[in-house]
Amino acid sequence: MKDIHTLIIGGGIGGLTAALSLQRLGLRVSVYEQVPELGEIGAGVTITPNACHALNYLMGEEAVEQLCDVPASGAIKHFQTGETLIDTARGDIPRQQYGAHYCQVHRADLHNALAEAVRSNDPDCLHVGCRFTGLEESDSDITAIFENGRTATGDVLIGCDGVRSAVRQVLWGEDEVTFTGYIAWRGLVPTAGLNPEYLVPDPAAFAGRGHTFTRYKVRHGALYNFVAFSRRDEWVAESWSERAEIPELLAEFSDFAPEVQAIMHAIPPEQCFKWGLFDRPPLEQWTRGRASLLGDAGHPMTPFLAQGAAMAIEDGLILARAVEASDDWREALSRYEKARRERGSFVMLESHVNARRMYNRDPDNLSRNSHRSAEALGLYDYNPVTVPV
Ligand SMILES: Cc1cc2nc3c(=O)[nH]c(=O)nc-3n(C[C@H](O)[C@H](O)[C@H](O)COP(=O)(O)OP(=O)(O)OC[C@H]3O[C@@H](n4cnc5c(N)ncnc54)[C@H](O)[C@@H]3O)c2cc1C
Repeated sequence: MKDIHTLIIGGGIGGLTAALSLQRLGLRVSVYEQVPELGEIGAGVTITPNACHALNYLMGEEAVEQLCDVPASGAIKHFQTGETLIDTARGDIPRQQYGAHYCQVHRADLHNALAEAVRSNDPDCLHVGCRFTGLEESDSDITAIFENGRTATGDVLIGCDGVRSAVRQVLWGEDEVTFTGYIAWRGLVPTAGLNPEYLVPDPAAFAGRGHTFTRYKVRHGALYNFVAFSRRDEWVAESWSERAEIPELLAEFSDFAPEVQAIMHAIPPEQCFKWGLFDRPPLEQWTRGRASLLGDAGHPMTPFLAQGAAMAIEDGLILARAVEASDDWREALSRYEKARRERGSFVMLESHVNARRMYNRDPDNLSRNSHRSAEALGLYDYNPVTVPV
C-alpha cells in the first residue's frame, strides 16, 4: 500500500484534508481542482470538537489555536427582544469534555493553511484548472479525464467535488437535485464599525419564526461572520449562489432586534451573498470499482447543524486511516465507506429535521428541550483520530 497513488477530484476543505491525511502516511496524492486559482469564499465556518480532533492531528494543536477563534460562551437569543433563551457553554469546556475545541475560522484561512501544508509536503500535488468530466478504469488503474484535455492515472480516485459532484454523477448516474426551500445569506462585516455592546455574547443565534440570524467573530475579532436563513418557494437564479442586495436582507429581517439590524447595516455591499440550499437523496453506496466519494459529494449537507465541513474533514482523515489499515485498495475503500457512509447519511438527514424544527418553532417558547443541536445528537463524541476503522 506504500505505493498507492490517490487521485483527489476537488480541492475544497474535504479534498485538501484527505490529501494531507494521506501525505502524512507518506503516500502519493494528486489533487485536481476545476478553478484556475485555489481559494475559498469570504465566510466563516464552525469547527466542532469532532472535526477539531482531525485538524489538531494534521496541523498541530498550536497551529489550530492560532488559526481559529475559541468563543468564550454562546447563546440562542429571542429574535426581537435579544433576550437570551438558551446559554451554550464554550471556552475551554468543550475541550475538557471532548478533548478538542469548539472554534470558528475564516474559511479562506483554513483552506489556505491546508493547501500550504499539502504543497510543502509535495510542491507538485495540486493541479488547478482541471475540471473532471469522466473516468476510465482498468484492472490495474483508474484514469481521470479533464475538460482541458489532460488525463491523470492512479490506483484510486476520490470524488471530493462538492454537492454538484461530477464524480458522483459518473459513478451513480443523474439523481434528483432539489431545492430545499431554504436560502442563506452570509458574509463578513468589519468589527471596527460595530457597537461592542451588540456583540455579547459571542457567538449568538437569533431565533425567529422561520428565520435565524447567527453571528460570530473570526480572524481574532477583526471580522464578524453572519449567516441568515429564511424560506423561499423557489430558487430562480441559474447559479446556486449569487451576490445579494442588502435592502432585500434588511426587509426580510426587519422585525429582528437592533443588534441584528446594526450588523446588517454594516455589511459591505460586495460582502453580501445568498445561497439556495439544495439537496440530493442519500446514496446506498459510495464506492464503485476504484472510485469513491467524500464530503458533500457523498453526503450533501444543509447547514442546519453546521456539520458539512466537519463531516468532510472527518471523511478525509478516515480515508487515510482506512488505507493504512488495509492490504489493498479494495479493502481500503470498503473500510472507508463502512466507517463513514452511515454517519454521513445520518447527519445529512438530521440536518433536514433541524431545518423543519427551525421553521416551525415558536421563539416565545423556545427551551433547551425544544432545541436539538449537533452536540445533543452526540456528534461531538466522535474522534476520527481514534475511532475504529
Ligand atoms: C450558508 C452555509 C453555511 C455553512 N456553515 C457551515 C459551518 O458552520 N460548519 C460546517 O461544518 N459546514 C458548514 N457549511 C457546509 C460546508 O460549507 C460544506 O459542507 C463543505 O464546504 C463541504 O466541503 P467539500 O470539500 O466536500 O465540498 P466543497 O467545499 O464544495 O468543495 C468542492 C471543490 O470541488 C471543486 N469541484 C467541483 N466540481 C469539480 C470538477 N468537476 N472537477 C474538479 N473540481 C471540482 C470545487 O471548485 C470545490 O473547490 C455551510 C454551508 C452553507 C451553504
